[in-house]
Amino acid sequence: MGFEYDDQNIFAKILRGEIPNDTVFESDHALAFRDITPQAPTHVLVIPKGPYMSLDHFTQEASEAELVGFMRAVGEVCRIEGVSQDGFRAISNAGRDGVQEVPHLHVHILGGRSLGRMLARET
Ligand code: 5GP
Repeated sequence: MGFEYDDQNIFAKILRGEIPNDTVFESDHALAFRDITPQAPTHVLVIPKGPYMSLDHFTQEASEAELVGFMRAVGEVCRIEGVSQDGFRAISNAGRDGVQEVPHLHVHILGGRSLGRMLARET
């Protein structure tokens, strides 16, 4: 499957500095910033700096340095936010069925309270 990255997505604009963000951590390969609509006391989005749409896209096309840099950033955010001890949830939504709103890879880091079941049961 080919991946067609849309460089007008909101996170691409954040990376270009066209839209402000509340940065938590930045490295050569990743940027982490607070979600504009937090769903838990800690709700940080970690994104790679490269133009990747999803974990699937990223793991197929990113360099080893990008892959390592991104994953290390996820861990850094957990430590910066102080959720390593009590726990957290890392979520990456992709595509239609994953209900992905912004088509630039992001991992949500959620914590600071008990997060309940992973998925709501179907009614
Ligand atoms: P998704 O549903 O794609 O996994 O999550 C996208 C997330 O991006 C949502 O949680 C939403 O609140 C967040 N978001 C959307 N636009 C902005 C923005 O302009 N700034 C920030 N910081 N977060 C955003």
